[in-house]
Amino acid sequence: MDKYLKAIKQNICSICVDSDEKGICTLNEKETCAVELFLPKIIEAVHSTDSENIQDYLEKLHNTVCTQCRAQEKDGNCYLREDANCSLDRYFSLIVETIQNVDAGLNI
Ligand code: SF4
Ligand code: SF4
Repeated sequence: MDKYLKAIKQNICSICVDSDEKGICTLNEKETCAVELFLPKIIEAVHSTDSENIQDYLEKLHNTVCTQCRAQEKDGNCYLREDANCSLDRYFSLIVETIQNVDAGLNI
């Protein structure tokens, strides 16, 4: 898990709008990052999807992670997703690529 977290911090936190210029997360203790909170589930979702189409990964993340998230309503809407305020949704393609690169032994 540590290797994934390290790569996520390196690749996603460094460019995240919620980080400072050093890539340090600026969320306060009342805010939660879905990428951190659901990292094991995100990794599992990526590992159980095999597709050339990145949309298939997004769908899988919605089906496995968003369904466990408090922010998603019963009708499937998420106000954070709609406001581009969820780091998982914002950077999902880079997150998928980062996990796959770690699996391939790259990016560490
Ligand atoms: S919100 Fe999440 S992805 Fe963004 S800097 Fe914080 S921990 Fe990293
Ligand atoms: S898009 Fe919404 S429901 Fe899905 S992880 Fe992000 S905040 Fe949670």
